Amino acid sequence: MTDAILLAADEPDPVCVLRADGTSDLFFTADHAGRQIPRRLDRLGVPESELMRHIAWDIGMRGVTERLSAAFDATAVIQTYSRLVIDCNRDPGVPSAMPEISEHTPIPGNVGLTDADKAARVAAIFTPYHERIAGLLDARAAAGRRTVYIAMHSFTPTFKGESRAMEIGVLYNRDARLASILLDLLRAEGDLTVGDNAPYAVSDLTDYGVPRHAEPRGLAYVEIEIRQDLIADATGEAAWAQRMARLLAAADARLKAASG
Ligand SMILES: [Zn+2]
Repeated sequence: MTDAILLAADEPDPVCVLRADGTSDLFFTADHAGRQIPRRLDRLGVPESELMRHIAWDIGMRGVTERLSAAFDATAVIQTYSRLVIDCNRDPGVPSAMPEISEHTPIPGNVGLTDADKAARVAAIFTPYHERIAGLLDARAAAGRRTVYIAMHSFTPTFKGESRAMEIGVLYNRDARLASILLDLLRAEGDLTVGDNAPYAVSDLTDYGVPRHAEPRGLAYVEIEIRQDLIADATGEAAWAQRMARLLAAADARLKAASG
């Protein structure tokens, strides 16, 4: 590609905002909820069957996040395009932001990208998404509103041949205020194996939303990872959204009580 125009006028917007004027203190993001690929990138040379897999998106996360947004009347910002085009939870400068291999799958359309190719993806997809999040958060702060930042993700039950027993992970970086409360509540459910900064841990290098949006603003936050086979259909999405709505409401009430 030689110019900077990646998305045609008739292609989906990279940012989907639900309930921009939502009344809840909770603010949801779903960086990997989409699996669209800009037409010009010709499916990145990857077979459609691979683009249905977890490597392309966080399976189930759009449905769970939409339901949580509705349950709380909460703003949710959802990415439309596949993480294989550009990972919106990475600094665009790290190699894994546009991976040449994901798990074991080669991504031919990501091999040999020029600086202009990369810049086009950042400009068309990454920047509008993060500018919208930042704009919404800044507007809430300017209005004196409290915000609790909740980054919604899902993880594959099997990665590189290794299966994962945990149903849910609670992730955090420097500030575990909300995460520790949510961990207690999830463990008290009694029927769950809960990951504490697992199957991933948040870091400045492997994440973007928490270290760039939540932590610099001093927002309480948590990153949630739900195992994908549990939310692979509408019934699972609804069940997990209902459970997480109950637990997040309780966690936020405790957080508020603790903050006086
Ligand atoms: Zn994710």
